Amino acid sequence: MKKAVFPGSFDPITLGHVDIINRALPLFDEIVIAVGVNAEKNYMFSLEERIAFIEKTFAGEKKITLKTYRGLTVDFCKSVNAHFILRGLRNPADFEFEKAIAITNRKISGIETVFLLTSAETSFISSSIVRDILRNNGDASLLLPEGIVNT
Ligand code: ADP
Repeated sequence: MKKAVFPGSFDPITLGHVDIINRALPLFDEIVIAVGVNAEKNYMFSLEERIAFIEKTFAGEKKITLKTYRGLTVDFCKSVNAHFILRGLRNPADFEFEKAIAITNRKISGIETVFLLTSAETSFISSSIVRDILRNNGDASLLLPEGIVNT
């Protein structure tokens, strides 16, 4: 059984995340969306809100499970018996950042990271830009799954 963990902050989940997850679904038997809990990060949305947005977006999708985790992603992967980490790549900056983490993760745990390139239509989207728009009372609905945040 091929099981992947898609870790992230999802603050909030965007159409970029949705694109990666939907395109990864045929590749895996199960995808665990793992919402990170990091005491040092200042989130815009509470853990409960971030989870509710993801639940609403993937309601009824049997191959997807949703979990929260603290600590190392590779330790979480072991705890759910997943051998793959799924990540999206938008640009060279993402690649440089992810490369070191992926190699380190493989070295310390043997867990492989699988990267998918974003679709052209969603490659410009980031949660941080969405948060900027929302903070300034703008309309971010074109960047978000239907029915989340204030859409
Ligand atoms: P993190 O804080 O771990 O970067 P994010 O929620 O920002 O968490 O991102 C989780 C994953 O989703 C990362 O692999 C990131 O590259 C990917 N991702 C974020 N936005 C997009 C996008 N627009 N298209 C494709 N992948 C994306």
